[in-house]
Amino acid sequence: MRVVSGIQPTGDLHLGNLLGAILRWVRMQDEAQCLFFLADLHALTVDVDPGQLAKSVREMAAALIASGIDPAKSILFRQSAIPAHAELAWILQGTARMGWLNRMTQWKDKAGKNKEGASVGLFTYPVLQAADILLYQATHVPVGEDQKQHIELTRDIAIKFNTDFDVELFVPPEPFIGGGTAARVMSLRDGGAKMSKTDPSDMSRINLIDDDDMIAQKIRKAKTDPEPLPDDPALLEGRPEAKNLVGIYGAVTGDSVEQVLARFADQGFGSFKPALAEALIALLKPIRSRLDELRSDTAELDRILADGAARASALGAPTLASAYTAVGLGR
Ligand code: ATP
Ligand code: MG
Repeated sequence: MRVVSGIQPTGDLHLGNLLGAILRWVRMQDEAQCLFFLADLHALTVDVDPGQLAKSVREMAAALIASGIDPAKSILFRQSAIPAHAELAWILQGTARMGWLNRMTQWKDKAGKNKEGASVGLFTYPVLQAADILLYQATHVPVGEDQKQHIELTRDIAIKFNTDFDVELFVPPEPFIGGGTAARVMSLRDGGAKMSKTDPSDMSRINLIDDDDMIAQKIRKAKTDPEPLPDDPALLEGRPEAKNLVGIYGAVTGDSVEQVLARFADQGFGSFKPALAEALIALLKPIRSRLDELRSDTAELDRILADGAARASALGAPTLASAYTAVGLGR
């Protein structure tokens, strides 16, 4: 079992990333060989501030380590340190089909109505993501629900490449989506949109760097409806905001939705929200204080990332060489 997954350094790590991906990565470190990377090449598909990017990469690396990623167990690196990601992505652009990429819901969501004005990279981003995964022969890719379609695309690209060039090179990976409510944490302002780093409203998400008062305030102001909580999970259907907050509470405390509702049935949000804020603070406070210690040691962060890059590069090199050979460009 080999695990590969990444996160974009496009903003601060938020509760959705943490519950949907990072805390699951942390648990997998003892079971598999794990590679985790800062997807800084992916960050170029949206507007980036060149003066900030290196800082954002270090900040995200520190956030991952503070959350429990252990560089002694897992390979932690920045994507751009390894040219093989971009090289393999280019090879795979010959395999991926326009029609496949056109169907990606994230492309439709992020490009919105302005497809003509979106970057080409935003459109072909899933092909780079396929390269990230296939380069290391990953068997499992732990991601949030929003990335499931991209992992399925990666499988299609792997299978078509193997067939077209008559090789058994790429391993079609399995998406590895968490069970329960953590797989898709929704915005605090809109139960129909996922919590995201790039949502313009900071009130839509809980960031790892938010202090206790900010967490409490964001939960207090989170959108809800006037009804009390029901005793039956089925009665949360049609109440996306209520469902999301109950789901977050369960994911944070480890309780099922049934257990959460058993405790809060018939209570209004006036009593549920403070309990939710308290649970979130208990989860995030220790991570935040570790982050405060780690983030200032840039030399140590750079050392960890350089060490990770050297190990990842060695793992990926044979696959890239085989891909060049398969397409007739062997060296
Ligand atoms: P961006 O808006 O820049 O795309 P993001 O919040 O979607 O940011 P990514 O870096 O794209 O973050 O994703 C990192 C990981 O977090 C992925 O595995 C993704 O599936 C997961 N993830 C992102 N948002 C959520 C969410 N709301 N709920 C659960 N998992 C999520
Ligand atoms: Mg995303």
